[in-house]
Amino acid sequence: MNEKQRGILLVLSGPSGVGKGTVGKKLRASDDNISFSVSVTTRGMRDGEIPGVDYLYITEEEFAALEKEGKLLESALVHGYHYGTPEEPVDRQLAEGKDVLLEIDPQGAQTVIRKRPDCVSVFVLPPSWASLRSRLEGRGTETREQVETRLRNAREEVKTVPMYDYAIVNADGPEGIEKAFLSLKAIVESEKYRTSRYSGLIPEE
Ligand code: 5GP
Repeated sequence: MNEKQRGILLVLSGPSGVGKGTVGKKLRASDDNISFSVSVTTRGMRDGEIPGVDYLYITEEEFAALEKEGKLLESALVHGYHYGTPEEPVDRQLAEGKDVLLEIDPQGAQTVIRKRPDCVSVFVLPPSWASLRSRLEGRGTETREQVETRLRNAREEVKTVPMYDYAIVNADGPEGIEKAFLSLKAIVESEKYRTSRYSGLIPEE
């Protein structure tokens, strides 16, 4: 069978603190054909982040203009800041045959699942609520009140799991991350063999 050239649109989502960034980063490091969609955000740059690599940092006015012009595939207000996925680079890279990874919050993921029914959506679950709490507390970037809000949101977000194609668990420790990464890799690998991604033609001799 001849492979179609179009890449896979991979949506990786899950609650705040679950570690989707860590798992996504391992996937990207393991596969040259995966390209990361750089989001726009109105939040400030954190230490160690690189503009244009981690995010494109823009003002509220610039964000509003992108939304108005219909340039975002999805957008969401997450913890008080706007985030969005520029649509053009996603489609350009898919057309080039690259698989495109979106690491986005569950609100944005719902939008992409609705707008792009051919996407492959994966929800990352924590092994327990206690574990999610200790991860959020451990990173020390949120106040106690913010941790409680994120945990409350997470309980709502996991109710949307049935809308995703797959769910994987990111268990504690390095083995947990490795297992989640291997699960994600297996998903991407098997998705490549979907009959809908092939022309179904056997080349003539
Ligand atoms: P952080 O500010 O910690 O990098 O990200 C906060 C949350 O926003 C994370 O859950 C992250 O996955 C999500 N996020 C990052 N980029 C986007 C985006 O383009 N769209 C949406 N909906 N969420 C995003």
